[in-house]
Amino acid sequence: MRDRFGREIEYLRISITHNCNLKCIYCAPGGDHCADSCSNTLSPADFERVVRSMAKVGIRKVRITGGEPLVRTDVCEIIERISHIEGIQDISMTTNGIRLDKMAVQLKAAGLKRLNISLDSLKEDRFRYITGGGRLQSTLKGIEKSLSLGLQPIKINTVLMKGVNEDEIDAFIQLAKESPLDVRFIELMPIGKYGEENSDKIVYNSDIISARPQLVFVNESFQGQPARYYKAEGFKGRIGFISPVSHQFCSCCNRIRLTCDGKLKPCLGNNGEVDLMDILKSDSDELDAFIRQAIFEKPASHNFGSSFSSVRNMSRIGG
Ligand code: SAM
Repeated sequence: MRDRFGREIEYLRISITHNCNLKCIYCAPGGDHCADSCSNTLSPADFERVVRSMAKVGIRKVRITGGEPLVRTDVCEIIERISHIEGIQDISMTTNGIRLDKMAVQLKAAGLKRLNISLDSLKEDRFRYITGGGRLQSTLKGIEKSLSLGLQPIKINTVLMKGVNEDEIDAFIQLAKESPLDVRFIELMPIGKYGEENSDKIVYNSDIISARPQLVFVNESFQGQPARYYKAEGFKGRIGFISPVSHQFCSCCNRIRLTCDGKLKPCLGNNGEVDLMDILKSDSDELDAFIRQAIFEKPASHNFGSSFSSVRNMSRIGG
């Protein structure tokens, strides 16, 4: 369905847990294991019910995220239930890849089609620092396993920060040269304490592009896809740039979010939420109407750049 600004909303991101096995500096500093707030978490059947309603109003693509989706033991059941819903054409996942090597076969069997894998450093020590203790080799093994299973396209999400990992831009570009991976640079957003307090660490995508004339724009993006892709001679993969801070792409935003505690979040850069928990715990048939209303009222644009302060960090929204 279209929202009040005429945007076709067809993409749902579901954060299935707030919990994460990493503590990335910009996402959950000091750890965010929120056991108490996660006690009121949607079940696989609840997710299925919401997605069934969503499919009725035109949602076609679902991305499973978190927190870290692979820490939920019933993640395959969630994917399987959603994959059988009429109208849902694509199920993907955003993960840190730490558990992927062991789980990729089951995920594919459950109906997962493709993956975005977060990777902010190719250096073991730095990866450990950024992720608060993660092992780079685990994520790299997960990427290899997923490639071997054909869970493609695989997109690598890299958040660059000045003074932290900015010096690895060319190493990441090299990764897209040698492997069939789309490497995407995402500007640090003012979500969470680190992003809010470190706007001076933002690496602007336009600066990366202008310093590398060998990268040629490839016009392969479609409506609603925020990344702009570039390629260079002999590359197996592409380089993508997601620039929510320097280039607003709200006018073609096609997505809505559902959190694991039952909130519909129509916009990432806006604190507005619609609580579905009471409806889900009752037999009420009002769910469809609530979803329609929430989609219709999606805000025109995010509030980054104003005095916006997100009440949730990314691990509690689902990036
Ligand atoms: N655990 C999974 C992962 O690591 O991909 C999924 C959840 S994580 C919140 C999703 C994505 O959000 C990651 O790619 C992460 O880099 C990104 N992210 C988190 N906080 C961010 C911020 N302040 N600015 C830009 N990206 C952010």
